[in-house]
Amino acid sequence: TSLQKTVRASAHIRRANGISVLVTGAAGFIGSHVSLALKARGDGVVGVDNFGSYYGRSLKMTRRDLLDFHGVFVVDGDVNDPRLLSMLFNTVEFTHVMHLAAQVGVQYAVENPYAYVRSNIASLVTLLEKCKSADPQPAIVWASSGSVYGPHNKVPFSEMDQVDPPPTLYASTKRTGEEITHTYNRLYGLSITGLRFFTVYGPWGRPDMAYFSFIRNILQGRPITVYQDKNRVDLARDFIYIDDIVKGCVASLDTTGRSTGSGGSKNGSAPYRIFNLGNGSPVTVPALVTILEENLKMKVTKDVVGMCGNGDDSFAYVNISLAERELGFKPATDLRTGLREFVKWYLWYYGNPLGPKS
Ligand code: NAD
Repeated sequence: TSLQKTVRASAHIRRANGISVLVTGAAGFIGSHVSLALKARGDGVVGVDNFGSYYGRSLKMTRRDLLDFHGVFVVDGDVNDPRLLSMLFNTVEFTHVMHLAAQVGVQYAVENPYAYVRSNIASLVTLLEKCKSADPQPAIVWASSGSVYGPHNKVPFSEMDQVDPPPTLYASTKRTGEEITHTYNRLYGLSITGLRFFTVYGPWGRPDMAYFSFIRNILQGRPITVYQDKNRVDLARDFIYIDDIVKGCVASLDTTGRSTGSGGSKNGSAPYRIFNLGNGSPVTVPALVTILEENLKMKVTKDVVGMCGNGDDSFAYVNISLAERELGFKPATDLRTGLREFVKWYLWYYGNPLGPKS
């Protein structure tokens, strides 16, 4: 069919360097950047995305146009569709799968729990089933999340930490994904790397994330709420710039070995790895807002409020020494530089000063 021809053409370059990657969630924030980076270095790349309406479709469509311009074709379809996956795997011999599709967001889960079960658990199993029976099996890199660490974990979070049942449904589907991928690794010898991303920001980012609403508020002259714990310590997070995350994803892909045959080893010898990918240092919300204000040359009112709960998780950041050692991961973009690039992009994309077009 013409879809198969387009998919094959999109992955054609594989013959040049031997790498052919299926990127799920390719029209998403991280997926679009990763797809472009892989394509730029000569990998064959085919994307798939269901263009779900969470945070609006228009940004996803624009990202898709950008990918299309650079020769990456994104199939409009669902990872949870086994027939679609069969078509893709029958058309291209993928050496790697970069699984970034997910239902994201924390608050949205309150009203839409099944969206998380479907996109973060059922889709993962559908994809793993396909990878399990492919011959040869592709190596898999997939996005877990730093949110699997809960309020009882001490900072900086380490991969060696015991993680309790996570505090949100989003995080709990990611934690479940870690267990499921580990089981597939053990049972079927799939080579799998899971990445616990922390707060990723940058151009083409997600409008549902806090830094996005901060810039909107500053431009529209509305106050920003700043949370403090019971000791009046500001909420702080580990912010990591998109280009650094892309480097971490590519390094993970290059170091996740491909299994040698279908059925895999049943003795668990195929690698199963989990890495924290963050900046390794906390940034408080007021510090971030100040940099945005400087970039926009505008001031905003900050409403300081206390957090409910015991505030243990107000100061969250991550130990990245494992990724440094095994992936050569070294975040290179400081917050000031990264936010400058984000602000430049935001003002270009949405225009100033009225914020989003729709
Ligand atoms: P995103 O929402 O921009 O990208 C995810 C994409 O997956 C979207 O385009 C969506 O349409 C697509 N998708 C969702 N369900 C699908 C399905 N069933 N079939 C096909 N496509 C589907 O989010 P992002 O920020 O780019 O996140 C990418 C990955 O990284 C996700 O797995 C997310 O959980 C993880 N992550 C992101 C962050 C962050 O700070 N951005 C932090 C931790 C983890």
